[in-house]
Amino acid sequence: TALAELLNSRIRDVPDYPKPGVLFKDIAPLLADAEAFGALTRALADRAKELGATKVVGLEARGFVLAAPAAVAAGLGFVPIRKQGKLPGEVFRRSYELEYGSATLEVQRDAFAPGERVLVVDDVLATGGTIGASLDLVKEAGAELVGVVVLMELGFLDGRERLAGHLDGAPLETL
Ligand code: IMP
Repeated sequence: TALAELLNSRIRDVPDYPKPGVLFKDIAPLLADAEAFGALTRALADRAKELGATKVVGLEARGFVLAAPAAVAAGLGFVPIRKQGKLPGEVFRRSYELEYGSATLEVQRDAFAPGERVLVVDDVLATGGTIGASLDLVKEAGAELVGVVVLMELGFLDGRERLAGHLDGAPLETL
């Protein structure tokens, strides 16, 4: 599609970052381009409305940059899922395995009112560990997942397969 071509043209491949052998997808040029960032924001906001979301959830840190303007454009509130130790008060917490070691994500226990419908947004789906843990947190906090939208999916890492058991039938879409 025209949107996918525009977005793709503003994503930069950085070899050997953050370590040798990794080809990093850098979205800085996309964020710096008003046309591309605006088109991305409108696409995310449109999906949030079409899916009947009542909140847009962004995953630290690049997910915040995509989800927050989309939430505003859709007339919805934003909820952050953050790395361990960044959110005050009572939280729900999930750990997941990385290639080396593990990572932990948190959401505030009172983030959602009863019956809330959540769209989860992040920049990259790689192995699916980050989004998988986030979907578990959304459910534990009592909200209903209505969809996941990512900017990019690294298909060769099989993240989509890893997430199958976490989606409860909600769509997983890549822009
Ligand atoms: P996963 O948990 O393995 O699916 O990794 C996804 C997370 O790692 C996302 O939150 C991304 O922000 C980050 N990530 C993985 N690969 C890239 C990349 O090539 N560019 C930017 N972020 C990446």
